[in-house]
Amino acid sequence: MFTIGCHLSSSKGFLHMGKEAISLGANTFQFFTRNPRGFSSKEPDPADCEAFIKYWSENNGGKIVAHAPYTLNACSAEEKTRELAYMIMSDDLKRMELVPDNYYNFHPGSHVKQGVEKGTDYIVELLNRVITPEQKTIVLLETMAGKGSEIGRTFEEIQAIIERVELKDKIGVCMDTCHVFDGGYDIINKLDSVFEEFDRIIGLNKLYAVHINDSKNVMGSHKDRHECIGKGNIGIEAFERFVNHKAVQGLPMILETPNDLPGYKQEIELLKGLYKE
Ligand code: FE
Ligand code: FE
Ligand code: ZN
Repeated sequence: MFTIGCHLSSSKGFLHMGKEAISLGANTFQFFTRNPRGFSSKEPDPADCEAFIKYWSENNGGKIVAHAPYTLNACSAEEKTRELAYMIMSDDLKRMELVPDNYYNFHPGSHVKQGVEKGTDYIVELLNRVITPEQKTIVLLETMAGKGSEIGRTFEEIQAIIERVELKDKIGVCMDTCHVFDGGYDIINKLDSVFEEFDRIIGLNKLYAVHINDSKNVMGSHKDRHECIGKGNIGIEAFERFVNHKAVQGLPMILETPNDLPGYKQEIELLKGLYKE
């Protein structure tokens, strides 16, 4: 099944997002668990979650992806900030149990002068504290562009975290096409070898979701500026090969391109057109 959708506003709840996704021709979506540039949020309504689950299964919806706020930094040098990251993530994961069996994606964090190793230690520490054996949500580390001191710019950095997470079946990866391209992976000309590398270092069984974005910048720029599909430096032919690659079959693909809803609707249609059954 080709599973495609886009980022949606969560302000009107789950059922609203589900209906909005279906109206756009989508069968998945992503949403922020709370204010992406702050931490505020309102409690999810259990009745809304239940209505969504029913509606979503009736409409053959796929796995959905929650996104942690950008401001969360699991590997900050400040203990207060790390503790806040723990509290936010733990609260988000508790809420996700109202819509079980989905994904929770987060940016590994920025180590800011502490070095990748120290940063990695903090991220591992947080994950081993926050992930519980009972939870039905899989936590995903997003591959990053490597802007500033972001951790997760290489598959090795992601694997260095995963290999130390105790509850292995609750941790995975979300690959962002703009980020890996900006991070220096040639998904235009060497898609097979990029996936082979991912498989060798992390394992393709750990790949659960994709952020499908073109890039305003060139490969290896470490910039992280998303562009609409086909209008950036990755280009439409590369996306055609990407969506049809065996490594990503069935995974939810989420657009995070600069678009309004009609724009997303068109882009979803475009990607469906590139996909060969
Ligand atoms: Fe992200
Ligand atoms: Fe992303
Ligand atoms: Zn990005």
